[in-house]
Amino acid sequence: MIVFIQIEELRKALAQTRKSGKSIGLVPTMGALHEGHLKLIKTSKEENDFTVCSIFINPIQFNNASDFEKYPKTLEQDTQLLQSLKCDAVFAPSPNEMYPYGRPALTIDFGYQNNILEGQFRPGHFSGVGIVVAKLFNIIQPDKAYFGQKDFQQCMVIRQMVNELSISVKLRIIETMREADGLAMSSRNKRLNNEERLVAPAIYESLLYAQTNLLTKPFEIIRLKIKEGYLETGLRLEYIDLVDFNSGALVSEAKAGQKYAICVAAFLGDVRLIDNVVVNT
Ligand code: AMP
Repeated sequence: MIVFIQIEELRKALAQTRKSGKSIGLVPTMGALHEGHLKLIKTSKEENDFTVCSIFINPIQFNNASDFEKYPKTLEQDTQLLQSLKCDAVFAPSPNEMYPYGRPALTIDFGYQNNILEGQFRPGHFSGVGIVVAKLFNIIQPDKAYFGQKDFQQCMVIRQMVNELSISVKLRIIETMREADGLAMSSRNKRLNNEERLVAPAIYESLLYAQTNLLTKPFEIIRLKIKEGYLETGLRLEYIDLVDFNSGALVSEAKAGQKYAICVAAFLGDVRLIDNVVVNT
């Protein structure tokens, strides 16, 4: 496994890979790798001849400076894990390598998606995600790219970008990997203290509650019940919303025979966690 830190070196190596007829899979990450990331790598390895995992804590997608500062940095451990999975290459550039002209003046406006869910609460976040993913697509030119359903709206905006800019890549969305108690795996879970870690599975439980009651209770009542339940445990609900799975639009009530995502964001202390479930009604 080769670790690349320079764009040009990686481009040269991948030109050779492509020339020899090998397909390339890309798994973009911000490191602090867990089983969720590893599932993406394993799937890419099954479906491609050559897998590149990028590890880059992208400064321009953090709308909160302290979230960026506190983001776990475990590059050495991450590369060892990737080596053990026989990942073919790691791309771990510095911020200066990715943004030699400083913070890009360019922004990407995803329209409707900017004003709902994460877009609403994290101004500038998806612009930063869009720019870094577009750069990674340009540098690596993968046949397939792997993203986690855990970040449901991220999948939606990347699909939008790929469609609207005619980017030649096949997107693969991989199911959310969870801890035994249901908590969605996340690099941010490392920042929970013991007490918070015990409370955190209530997020997934609330999604299951919403899923069970989707067709029998008004969504507003479900939201209220969840908000009240959270208050008892110390969780602070930021939003819980119902989204049409295919269009990505918010809906107020579920109908039978449709596909939805229920998306939630909540704080435990100063740690912000997100999760979602996909439901066929
Ligand atoms: P991150 O390092 O948090 O930017 O995540 C890198 C990729 O891994 C993203 O596509 C995430 O959606 C995906 N991912 C994160 N957590 C999980 C999980 N628990 N299960 C599956 N994929 C995940």
